[in-house]
Amino acid sequence: MSISKEQTETLKRKIIDVFADVPYPKGVIAPHHCDKCRELRKTFAHKNWKTIDSKILEENYSKMPLFSPEAFQYFLPAFLIYSLDNFNDNDVCEFTIYTLSESEKEIKENPDYWRKYFQNRFESFTLKQINLIHEFLSLVESKEDDNFYLYRESAETGKKIMKEFIEPTLKN
Ligand SMILES: [Zn+2]
Repeated sequence: MSISKEQTETLKRKIIDVFADVPYPKGVIAPHHCDKCRELRKTFAHKNWKTIDSKILEENYSKMPLFSPEAFQYFLPAFLIYSLDNFNDNDVCEFTIYTLSESEKEIKENPDYWRKYFQNRFESFTLKQINLIHEFLSLVESKEDDNFYLYRESAETGKKIMKEFIEPTLKN
């Protein structure tokens, strides 16, 4: 199935609506002590996810795993919207998908570790937000594009992670 502009625009509007009230992180944005994380803290300090410069997302496409859970929840919608605006083979889109998933093999080998990891990562998300991540991953799966071949696998695993690890423990 080819993805229409209307589908990506509809999902974008829902993301803007459903993530609108996520508060700016109270704690530290990237808790690890190293130069890379210090730089990341500086770059994202006091940035609003709704107005953040695309260039910042492009320059930090692989950094989401360094965010604290609350910073991850706050900035994820910016990466999702960038990905939907540029729904093709690019670094931001690719790593946003990877951030929502893990390899099947890894999960099979260390299921308890990954269950805890993902539950911690998505602890404060609401069911509505998780459902939109589901929708995003479904769009990735259904995109007819040879360059999306590897992403489709990640999207499929990501959906399983949402269903099996995260949804049963959501508080909101
Ligand atoms: Zn670090």
